[in-house]
Amino acid sequence: MAETAQPVTMDTIVSLCRRRGFVFPSSEIYGGLGSTYDYGHYGVLTKNNIRSLWFRAMVQERDDIVALDSAIILNPRVWEASGHVAGFTDPLVDCRTCKLRFRADQLDLASCGRKPSKHPGETPDCDLTEPRQFNLMFETHVGALQDESSTAYLRPETAQGIFVNFKNVAQLARRKPPFGIAQVGKSFRNEITPGNFLFRLREFEQMEMEYFVPPPEADEWHRYWIEARRRWYLDLGLRDENLRVREHDADERSHYSLATSDLEYLYPIGWQELEGVANRGEYDLTQHTRESGTKLEWIDPDGTRYTPYVIEPAVSIDRIMLAFLCDAYDEEVVGDRERVVLRLHPRVAPVKAAILPLVPRDDGMAGRARALYEELRRYHQVEHDDSGQIGRRYRRQDEIGTPWAFTVDDQTLEDETVTVRDRDSLAQERLPIGGVREWLDDALQQDWSSPHSH
Ligand code: ATP
Repeated sequence: MAETAQPVTMDTIVSLCRRRGFVFPSSEIYGGLGSTYDYGHYGVLTKNNIRSLWFRAMVQERDDIVALDSAIILNPRVWEASGHVAGFTDPLVDCRTCKLRFRADQLDLASCGRKPSKHPGETPDCDLTEPRQFNLMFETHVGALQDESSTAYLRPETAQGIFVNFKNVAQLARRKPPFGIAQVGKSFRNEITPGNFLFRLREFEQMEMEYFVPPPEADEWHRYWIEARRRWYLDLGLRDENLRVREHDADERSHYSLATSDLEYLYPIGWQELEGVANRGEYDLTQHTRESGTKLEWIDPDGTRYTPYVIEPAVSIDRIMLAFLCDAYDEEVVGDRERVVLRLHPRVAPVKAAILPLVPRDDGMAGRARALYEELRRYHQVEHDDSGQIGRRYRRQDEIGTPWAFTVDDQTLEDETVTVRDRDSLAQERLPIGGVREWLDDALQQDWSSPHSH
């Protein structure tokens, strides 16, 4: 599977995220909780950027897609109608020897409990049970009574909240198919196989868009969205050679899917699904029409009625963030020093620029740097750093992927110019301090690609 795995290891990414405060193990002081993570300052900033870049491409820059924010806990009948209560399962096997549990269809990604260099089932001591189906939905109870009638579920996908609102939105949005509804929010799955950091979480932030189309146009729109989503990643600097489209075979498709293609990324664990783009056909609207008694269909002005097909690009911010971090991670030797640098697209990078007084105890430099910082922070996420040697300050910014640093130095006091240092090329140039804001606005509009792109 991992025939040409990423050179960067998952451990390296985990340790950078920890060291620089992107991501912490959840409830760590109590020993953590499997496959849940807490995002620290830079993690939150990066997630915010990914979310708003997605929203911008999906909603802001289009006139055919509207937004929705539905509840996490829905009427449990939603999940019966959608097929999740009966069928949202993964095949589970137990090992009677080491007592661990594995996903039967992903044994090649798991490690044997006794011999981690082997996969489960590969050693003579492994004693695996027959696979049985395990439902991934988290159950909870609504209200004060905890009986069967109060059972509810934390949503395992955001999509169903969109389908059950189809009528509300279609009536009010004054749009006719093809049109879409986009939603971002937490989803929950009691995943069997923990591990692999942000790749497989029990609580993750999903971004889904359901695009309702006349059935004869479904194939065309499916192809359109696969390509549009692929372009989105490339435009945000993901390296072409690490991204591919893989069409699902008929036997691996979900119960609702007529066709699915995954955008796969070459993670340190090999090629894996980053985003799925499915043609869900009329499955969901038909199911909810049948179970709720409310007709979820489209009526053309001439009276023609039909159930639209649905094309769905679905992804989590967490998997995108992991892909961006793996793609961006780089180590290089500059002079006689090694530096770690995150070559993130400037629009993805958590901090856009650092403002550094070369000699912090010099009042002239300190005052100008502080004033520049206070001006820039009104428009962009920027950082002011006046502690430690300048080289260390640059390296700190390199490690969190800050694309530019503006340094206030002796010359600033003479001619009111500052140095701008480029994270990738390390080139330095001077510009007037009064022009920094415009320069930064402009730089953030430019295209960017990794210096390592083929
Ligand atoms: P897998 O086969 O990896 O379990 P899936 O095919 O069940 O995933 P979908 O139901 O298609 O996943 O979910 C759509 C998207 O949501 C995925 O492409 C992924 O980006 C994200 N996603 C799904 N499950 C998780 C998870 N446990 N942790 C993080 N992201 C997830």
